[in-house]
Amino acid sequence: MLRPLMEKVVVIGSGCAGWTAALYTARANLQPFVLTGKQPGGLLTTTSIVENYPGFPEGVDGYELMTRMQKQAERFGARARFGTVEKADFSKRPFALVVDGDKIEAKTVIIATGASHRHLDVPGEDFLETKGVTYCATCDGALPVFRNQLLVVVGGGDSACEEALYLTRFGSVIHLIHRRDTLRASKIMSNRALSNPKIKPVWDSVVTEVLDVKQDKVTGVRLKNLKTGAESVLNCAGVFIAIGHSPNADIFKGQIEMDANGFIVPKEGTMTNVPGVFVAGDCADHVYRQAITAAGMGCAAAIDAERFLAAQNH
Ligand SMILES: Cc1cc2nc3c(=O)[nH]c(=O)nc-3n(C[C@H](O)[C@H](O)[C@H](O)COP(=O)(O)OP(=O)(O)OC[C@H]3O[C@@H](n4cnc5c(N)ncnc54)[C@H](O)[C@@H]3O)c2cc1C
Repeated sequence: MLRPLMEKVVVIGSGCAGWTAALYTARANLQPFVLTGKQPGGLLTTTSIVENYPGFPEGVDGYELMTRMQKQAERFGARARFGTVEKADFSKRPFALVVDGDKIEAKTVIIATGASHRHLDVPGEDFLETKGVTYCATCDGALPVFRNQLLVVVGGGDSACEEALYLTRFGSVIHLIHRRDTLRASKIMSNRALSNPKIKPVWDSVVTEVLDVKQDKVTGVRLKNLKTGAESVLNCAGVFIAIGHSPNADIFKGQIEMDANGFIVPKEGTMTNVPGVFVAGDCADHVYRQAITAAGMGCAAAIDAERFLAAQNH
């Protein structure tokens, strides 16, 4: 039987966290092996303009930024394989990964699998993504299309309140649409949101459609009141969906420590509960969820992995 490939560093994921981890470990001569997953380049490839990544005063296309990150890491010896990790065994070293049926052994692993935002799954939502539908106020709120406009935030948790509050800087009125008659958010966040004169709650209601596909941009949302069954249309220029994120970390359950929502919990620095397995980016971050913070964690994980290997005389 062929011996599985043995890698010094395997990076699982090719978003900002993954490629930054690859860049740093490549420059440390560790020839990292990057497993791209189903979305090479990660979430940022789905956005046309990134205006808050330092170094790009005019903004940068998300796909272009990620292609540049990949090229930069490859220049120093990083290698990539289009593949998805199906199984991981962290019970003994070297660690064993199964990637599309092949076995790969690794002395260290950096998990950078990101998190997926939850969708409303209503008509118009997917089609109008980036045309007024967004999942990140910090990323998109300042775009000209939302300035002094009626905006909608969907959700009732801390994130929805944070998004609504952030948007008060740009929008004229922020309608906060929630399926219940009280917010799920912490008291302090609820109070802050509800006492802001620009935020108007719409209780007991769900979005049943995002309008208007025919016009190729968001013009409003169709609402249904869950108590009365009444339907209505609320005009708006933007729909910010804040109903939670699911970390892409299910395959590590039972081995890697996670919080109640499935986010990986780093221990010291970026180390997980398994020595030699590190974590970076949105799969361990339910707070900031930005390209630059994911990249920063990728850098930290690479330095931690390098020091771990050095201490083991590799
Ligand atoms: C529409 C949109 C616009 C955004 N705009 C901005 C912005 O303007 N500015 C900003 O700072 N942030 C923005 N963000 C947020 C930013 O994209 C994320 O914070 C960032 O991408 C997180 O990087 P990451 O590397 O942690 O994860 P991701 O980018 O999500 O990458 C995860 C990677 O893991 C891979 N993967 C998952 N599971 C597996 C597996 N089992 N095996 C192998 N690989 C796997 C995926 O294929 C992917 O390559 C935006 C997000 C979205 C959705």
